[in-house]
Amino acid sequence: MPEKIYRVDVCIVGAGPAGMILGLLLAHQGIKVLVLESHHDFEREYRGEVLMPRFIQMMRQTGLLSHLEKYPHLKLKNFEFHYKDKVLANVDFAGLCPQAPFALWMSQTVMLNALREKAVTYPNFQLLFGVTARDVVREGGKIVGVMGTRRAQQIEVRARVTVGADGRASAMRKTAEFKMEYEDYDFDVVWFTVKRREQFENTVRAFFTPRRTYLILPKHPDLVQCGILVGKGEFSQIREQGIGAMRQELLSAHPVLHDFARQLTDFEPFSVLQARVSYVARWAKEGCLLIGDAAHTCSPAGAIGVSVAAATAIVAADVIIKGFKRGDLSLATLNKVQMLRGSDVQRIQTTQAAFTRAALLRYPRLRPLALLIIFTLARAGIMPKFFRRIVVMDGPLPVDPAISLENPAVV
Ligand SMILES: Cc1cc2nc3c(=O)[nH]c(=O)nc-3n(C[C@H](O)[C@H](O)[C@H](O)COP(=O)(O)OP(=O)(O)OC[C@H]3O[C@@H](n4cnc5c(N)ncnc54)[C@H](O)[C@@H]3O)c2cc1C
Repeated sequence: MPEKIYRVDVCIVGAGPAGMILGLLLAHQGIKVLVLESHHDFEREYRGEVLMPRFIQMMRQTGLLSHLEKYPHLKLKNFEFHYKDKVLANVDFAGLCPQAPFALWMSQTVMLNALREKAVTYPNFQLLFGVTARDVVREGGKIVGVMGTRRAQQIEVRARVTVGADGRASAMRKTAEFKMEYEDYDFDVVWFTVKRREQFENTVRAFFTPRRTYLILPKHPDLVQCGILVGKGEFSQIREQGIGAMRQELLSAHPVLHDFARQLTDFEPFSVLQARVSYVARWAKEGCLLIGDAAHTCSPAGAIGVSVAAATAIVAADVIIKGFKRGDLSLATLNKVQMLRGSDVQRIQTTQAAFTRAALLRYPRLRPLALLIIFTLARAGIMPKFFRRIVVMDGPLPVDPAISLENPAVV
């Protein structure tokens, strides 16, 4: 028996970008929201934290941009593709998207705290840290809430809609028995952080060498976040070759890595991310919806995971708000989220796959050919067009303008 039972309109499992944005937009409309987060706070290492122009576009659409801009961030003007010491292509965000002419670097700790600070101004919003959702509550074939634990305490939440926003390893997806349409992974990203050198521009860089591809991203306030793209499981072979070989590789890669490489004594600074891509076949069941990475995980190509997760959260908010207004939160209503978002997510995943899987990594022996393709695309000026498909939204999200925090509530 649960020791405590909460009764709310919407229960959201996971206080990542998707869960927090959904919770905030619903709370603004007077809907009673409870967000459950297994961590005890937002203070942790999130690694890549670049938010592309599509994120800026949707934050402006929801009236959140001016709020987020009050918190520490960096504005990034361009994305450069380098080969050795040459700039192959310089993709200027202003040229790609005049309405959102920059990407943002904002620590996810800062962003989530900023969303929480706004959300708690609504008395109908509650966030419980330290609660891990363990199972869904079912009644008559419908999902009516979740069961979770907080320290040794059992809690139960009863809700008209239960949302799984609990990320790529979603427990909600498993316990509510959602089926994957596809799940794949082709490569790993080895992440590490180095000190920024003076006069290192605030630019996002993809850096090609004859052997590998590196991502080099600014990190607030004076760091650089680096990612090495390696084959699936290849990092264990790199470790076997020893730290000396790794040091040599980094020394021959890019000057920004030199100081870090010289001081390298072991593999402790490195962490490996499997570049998983997944898509859940149906994102909704009676009473329950998956959003964000729990429903669709994107590859790291283009650094758009947060943007794609946030877009689904915003559309979900609009669908749920209209559902409350009409008194219809049926499966047909919840299915609208996927109807409105599914094709965009799949188009992005397909474009990412074209860039990374086919050309760069699946056939390492064809790397010279892949590089030739990249040079040709860069010279022909096609790179920005290709890149635009990933980092910019063609138009606003299909939601009611009333959803914006700048407008009064409609429910
Ligand atoms: C190493 C790395 C680098 C990345 N770099 C970038 C980048 O530069 N730009 C970008 O746009 N995207 C990037 N991404 C992708 C981005 O982080 C994700 O796409 C995005 O965070 C997804 O948001 P979400 O809210 O759906 O899930 P998440 O951010 O994963 O949030 C899920 C939340 O649910 C909580 N949770 C999980 N299980 C439970 C449970 N059972 N009960 C309660 N709470 C639970 C988790 O603690 C977490 O807080 C990166 C991802 C990784 C792993």
